[in-house]
Amino acid sequence: MPELPDLVYLEGVLQPELTGKQIVGLDVKEPIIIRNLLGESLDLLKGKTFTDVRRHGPFLVFELSDDLRMIVHPMLAGAFTLEKRKGLVSIQMKDHALTYLDNKKMGKIYFLRKGSESQIPRFLEQGVNIRSVEFTEAKFLELINSSRRQVRAFLMEQESISAIGNAYADEILFDAGIHPKTFCYQLDQEQKEGLFRSINKVIQSGIDSVQGSKHLLHEKVRDHMLVRNRKNEPCPRCGSSIRRESVLGYDTFFCPKCQPAQRKTFIDWK
Ligand SMILES: [Zn+2]
Repeated sequence: MPELPDLVYLEGVLQPELTGKQIVGLDVKEPIIIRNLLGESLDLLKGKTFTDVRRHGPFLVFELSDDLRMIVHPMLAGAFTLEKRKGLVSIQMKDHALTYLDNKKMGKIYFLRKGSESQIPRFLEQGVNIRSVEFTEAKFLELINSSRRQVRAFLMEQESISAIGNAYADEILFDAGIHPKTFCYQLDQEQKEGLFRSINKVIQSGIDSVQGSKHLLHEKVRDHMLVRNRKNEPCPRCGSSIRRESVLGYDTFFCPKCQPAQRKTFIDWK
């Protein structure tokens, strides 16, 4: 579930809520999702205090006192609640609890010391943060110009730009009017610049929609999406039926009229 706008929202809620709170207990119902990289029992966490919460790509990083870290990769279905309820892992604080829910059990929770992040798959390999000042049009053009992949795969690979998931990849390509099977090298300069604008616009509008909706912390907000999970519904722009297709194994939603397949690249033999 959580994509960048969801994680930005979680960071904004959890950071002020948890910072300064001391852990008094840890309840692990599903050890399968835990990766303990501490080299000793998780009892070590008792008495430690949350010092910060921040997003890193598709991860949420919970910093703890004594340079300890809890890093969560929620994958498809991970979610958090501050309510006292049953979940896979629950961290108790005095008068508070943080519970991790995940009905697919695909997410992972890593416990480690600061500096051991290289042991977390893909953590250090994240590309430029699309919410940072480093994500300029020049940087984006440099990255897309060096990719031989389909544009949807390029958007989602995370080693180039971090971090766009399935749902927002569909929304971004719809906004840009680009067919999801287009290869990066088939796009002209104008389309690449338009794609850069669409990334910023769609992610910002996603953040605004998630922030603005009155939802529970663990609920996903997807009502604002125009094509994602809208197979056979009319396109909001042209009225054609939204199509669903598998692109490199991923479910992909798009409008066949607003996002026409790219013409064959014109080859000038002279
Ligand atoms: Zn359309």
